[in-house]
Amino acid sequence: MNLWDDTLFYNPKERPALSEEIDADVAIIGGGFTGLWSAYYLKSLDSTLRIVILEGERIGFGASGRNGGWCSALYPTTHGYDEVRPHLIESIDAIGTFAQSHAPEVGFVKSGTITVARNKAQLKRIHASSSLHETYLSKGALLGRIGMKGALGGLYTPDCAVIHPGRLVRALAEYVEKLGVIIYEKTRALTIEPNRVTTSNATVRATSIIKATEVFSQNPRSHAPIYSLMVATEPLTDEIWSEIGLAHRETFSEALHLVNYGQRTIDNRLAVGGRGARYLFGSRLRAQHEMEYRVHQEIIELVREWFPALKRTKFTHRWGGAVSIPRDWHPYINWDRASGIARAGGYSGDGVTLSHLAGKTLAHLILEREHPITSLPHVNWRNPLWEREPLRWLGVNGSVLATDLADREEELTRRPSLIAKTLNSFIRV
Ligand SMILES: Cc1cc2nc3c(=O)[nH]c(=O)nc-3n(C[C@H](O)[C@H](O)[C@H](O)COP(=O)(O)OP(=O)(O)OC[C@H]3O[C@@H](n4cnc5c(N)ncnc54)[C@H](O)[C@@H]3O)c2cc1C
Repeated sequence: MNLWDDTLFYNPKERPALSEEIDADVAIIGGGFTGLWSAYYLKSLDSTLRIVILEGERIGFGASGRNGGWCSALYPTTHGYDEVRPHLIESIDAIGTFAQSHAPEVGFVKSGTITVARNKAQLKRIHASSSLHETYLSKGALLGRIGMKGALGGLYTPDCAVIHPGRLVRALAEYVEKLGVIIYEKTRALTIEPNRVTTSNATVRATSIIKATEVFSQNPRSHAPIYSLMVATEPLTDEIWSEIGLAHRETFSEALHLVNYGQRTIDNRLAVGGRGARYLFGSRLRAQHEMEYRVHQEIIELVREWFPALKRTKFTHRWGGAVSIPRDWHPYINWDRASGIARAGGYSGDGVTLSHLAGKTLAHLILEREHPITSLPHVNWRNPLWEREPLRWLGVNGSVLATDLADREEELTRRPSLIAKTLNSFIRV
């Protein structure tokens, strides 16, 4: 079961489905962070707007309710990053202000993130890739923060906060409702045309429409859904925490090529996620894929290798979801004034902060309010399409395999991987 759903400690609100024709100024499809932050900023700019959100399942069903809870300044591409970065940092702080004022149960703490190198190849790579925003941590300094076995050195950046995403997405939904936004659950948009969204029960007529469905978007060539799976331990004792460290709840990862990410939760568990699951032919999504036993076991083994004190600890939760990867790894925040249709996504696993920036940007674009964020490089970005199948299947799954091999190569040779170097020009998974 998803840890975040299981540790809400209240019964989440259930909302009715749309049952009759309605008119709105803005109809938002998708009740995740993108849809909800869009509603929040639209209402902040013009409180008279009639806004409806149509959510196919329940609030928090998508990636916003399942993620690793890293609210970071990460951006999936280097293109435009210097320009976007200050706005991502502003977004982290805005999410923090919201959480501290309206949802302290989210446990927002901005204590930064640590990348740990555990072999010489990783150490060389983090030295080579470190930026002005990161501080190098010697082995001694690193071990004072995180007691990871085999750690040789690491990087630290203060620009990351930790959250309980399940609590944030639900608190945000309840907050926008207080502002007058109407949310319909179990209401799937079947067709979206200019000024008109149809669902199985009724139609919404709207001046503007926002597609905020990220990985659930329909065009199979617009993005590759890549599964990321997570596990969490039972709450750990103070004795174990004194060995692991993370006293300030810093998020952390090992400098592997295969993406991995961890956090100390607000209730003192360790929650860790990673990629490595197969990509499904035709960009399909399949719920069973979120529970792939092999991948969960591999993550548990990695966590126990990092922290031997967890040898006998129970892993009480296993879950997962898919992240949306465009062919060029470039996020998009698009607004077509002529059709009145907007969309945002392609966050490639870095969507907690980016979805906030996207919502704020969409609100300014739709209401034609000037703001520097409306001319950032991802605004009205056109992503190239992925290759047709079976090329896409071969390419993506080949890359997942090669990424794993690259990590093994580095462990053996202690030199930065040649496989990864070749792979980087094609895809990162
Ligand atoms: C396991 C995992 C770990 C992650 N970890 C991190 C992390 O630590 N940090 C980070 O920055 N990012 C992370 N991400 C990515 C991040 O969670 C997402 O990028 C972000 O939450 C996307 O938000 P969203 O609102 O755009 O989409 P979602 O939260 O997926 O919301 C889309 C909603 O649209 C609804 N929907 C879909 N189709 C329709 C339809 N036709 N009609 C009506 N509703 C529809 C869905 O039910 C869903 O609720 C992770 C993702 C996963 C899966």
